[in-house]
Amino acid sequence: MSVLADLHIHSTASDGQYTPSEIVALAKEKGLHAIALTDHDTLSGLAEALEAGKAQGLRVIPGVEFSTDDYLNLHILGYGFPLDDPGLVKLTTGLKAGRDDRKYRIAGFLHNHGVDVPLSEVEEAATGGVIGRPHFAQVMLRHGIVATRKEAFDRYLDTPEFQEIERGTKPLAEECVKAVKAAGGKVSLAHPYQVVLGQDKLEDLVKRLAACGLDAIECYYPQHTQEQTAEYLRLAKKYGLHVTGGSDFHGEKNKPDNLLTAWELELDWFSK
Ligand code: AMP
Ligand code: FE
Ligand code: FE
Ligand code: ZN
Repeated sequence: MSVLADLHIHSTASDGQYTPSEIVALAKEKGLHAIALTDHDTLSGLAEALEAGKAQGLRVIPGVEFSTDDYLNLHILGYGFPLDDPGLVKLTTGLKAGRDDRKYRIAGFLHNHGVDVPLSEVEEAATGGVIGRPHFAQVMLRHGIVATRKEAFDRYLDTPEFQEIERGTKPLAEECVKAVKAAGGKVSLAHPYQVVLGQDKLEDLVKRLAACGLDAIECYYPQHTQEQTAEYLRLAKKYGLHVTGGSDFHGEKNKPDNLLTAWELELDWFSK
């Protein structure tokens, strides 16, 4: 049986606009049956989300989205694990510390490019304590350094030169997949169109990750073309993987083209 679900959502626990409880209310309003909260590298919003789901009568699946080192924008979605799993707690605690170091690297990079942003404001913007590039973009916008958040990424935070300072700082995809599997959870490959590698390489990647426990591919995503979706469905079928869908909702202010979406998904495999 299929349900209306959105399995890729960010809250104020990372770089989203809304709190976990607000997201549950918005999803209810939209008529969704299930959501997964998948904040970047953190589990800190999940307890509130699960609580709100119970109170408001919405199925909430605990989730997380890991940024990995293998390729640019290769992100791994983990689902359905216990919040206190020691392996995942250890991994996310380490990633939080990594982001705390990274903020100085980012500030230094910006300084070298003639841009000085007050770190205290960036820290304040990250209300959940997990600092990401969008928080820098927000402060740069406020100070008139850029006219849009997108400009902050295009000119500074997502240039090849910026990507150089990120190299070697994130866990490998395989490590993330294994950590979620060891916690008894499920794993999906996030927004495959964003992974910066060629066509044959994507299939190689799916094959490699499937061999270490990948369960699904996020075939449905707002920016996927029909052709891309068809290709990802083909890959899922070929490698015996399930299909997930997510909007990557960060709030309309933060990411206006990625709004909560009622994807029709088969989720029975989640409870197996
Ligand atoms: P971080 O976790 O610090 O690497 O930041 C990643 C987040 O930044 C993504 O989840 C998006 O929310 C946002 N982002 C990444 N690239 C861009 C871009 N080119 N334009 C706008 N937002 C972006
Ligand atoms: Fe984000
Ligand atoms: Fe992502
Ligand atoms: Zn995301």
